[in-house]
Amino acid sequence: MESCVHEFDVIVVGAGIMGSSTAYQTAKRGHKTLLLEQFDFLHHRGSSHGESRTIRATYPEDYYGPLVLESYKLWLQAESEIGYNVYFKAHQLDMGQETDRVVQAVVGSCRKNELGHRVLTREQVEQEYSGRIKIPEGWVGLVTEHGGVIKPTKAVSMFQTLALQNGAVLRDNMEVTEIKRDEVRGGIWVGVANGERFWGKKCVVTVGAWTKRLVKTVGGFELPIQPLETSVCYWRIKEGHEARFAIGGDFPTFASYGVAVHGGYPCDPDKRPWGPGNPLAPLKEWIEQTFSGVVDSGGPVATQLCMYSMTPDEDYVIDFIGGEFGKDVVIGGGFSGHGFKLSPVVGRILADLALSGQAKGVELKHFRIARFQENPQGNLKDFL
Ligand SMILES: Cc1cc2nc3c(=O)[nH]c(=O)nc-3n(C[C@H](O)[C@H](O)[C@H](O)COP(=O)(O)OP(=O)(O)OC[C@H]3O[C@@H](n4cnc5c(N)ncnc54)[C@H](O)[C@@H]3O)c2cc1C
Repeated sequence: MESCVHEFDVIVVGAGIMGSSTAYQTAKRGHKTLLLEQFDFLHHRGSSHGESRTIRATYPEDYYGPLVLESYKLWLQAESEIGYNVYFKAHQLDMGQETDRVVQAVVGSCRKNELGHRVLTREQVEQEYSGRIKIPEGWVGLVTEHGGVIKPTKAVSMFQTLALQNGAVLRDNMEVTEIKRDEVRGGIWVGVANGERFWGKKCVVTVGAWTKRLVKTVGGFELPIQPLETSVCYWRIKEGHEARFAIGGDFPTFASYGVAVHGGYPCDPDKRPWGPGNPLAPLKEWIEQTFSGVVDSGGPVATQLCMYSMTPDEDYVIDFIGGEFGKDVVIGGGFSGHGFKLSPVVGRILADLALSGQAKGVELKHFRIARFQENPQGNLKDFL
């Protein structure tokens, strides 16, 4: 007979930002929650660690904008519960060639979502930011209110603390090796490498770059999620100019379309190369040109390695694993290098799916697993 300390309403596997935010949601709603992590909590071997992630509502795909707006509210809600800040507001500047189809799609989705925005010429961008940002001839800038920076490790810690305060059980150094149906009483058995087993009515799998492997073991099918090793670089602002670029002032967070640094090297998450990081030459040149020589483009002062979990269409996977598990096991993965900002709403959705079998007020068709059976490349995007 298993002891009742091993029985839960929801077992969440993987304590990166997605699992931690999900555990917070289920615990806060009064459900007995267990959060399991294979490494130490707040480790640096996944995708959710470090000093900064940006948040923006300017997506070429119009279905992300409303989710970002909900996330802003949920970030503020969680901050008010914990009593400190993990999100720091700024304007967002997107920049790219006026004729670029992605830039045009971003403007189109702002219009469709009625998201306040301004499209600026090259000269207007220079004026708007008092010469701190320069864009090339033929480029435009798109400014919205909805930008900012999130502190990732602090945010993961915040959700874990809030989950704990709401009664969740958190266990680290617990590698989940099996997830099985309980054929006798229903529900799910979750087995850990050390031999422990836990029973849950429902299970949520949020294992980042390990998703393909665990889903293959548990569900017997291959999800097209490719881990990439990539890096975040931090650059020094030259002496005397720091305040003009600081968080809390009028300097924006930004995204530049057409700078080929959003990528990385395919990797096995358990046999990482741990370097060399992304090529720096194009980035150095871009920094020198864009920030009028005020940011030291000689090289980053710090670099942090991290993993992306890429789907072919760069859309998330949020769905039930299906098969013999029906609606009892939910997957959240394939966040393709842009999931952090949306983690509060992803946690809300994963909790909804696990607890009630459906997500309130959200269209999840773009995030279904079945899209890869219909087309191995996933969702079609007319701006690519
Ligand atoms: C360099 C970089 C920059 C980024 N910039 C941005 C940005 O500016 N804005 C943005 O929105 N997003 C950004 N992202 C993306 C964002 O950080 C990720 O989408 C997000 O962190 C993914 O979180 P996750 O919880 O899915 O994965 P992870 O953080 O990897 O968490 C998964 C966890 O599951 C655990 N696990 C795996 N297998 C098991 C198992 N069998 N048993 C138990 N535990 C297990 C892992 O150890 C890990 O802790 C960036 C990512 C990187 C790498």
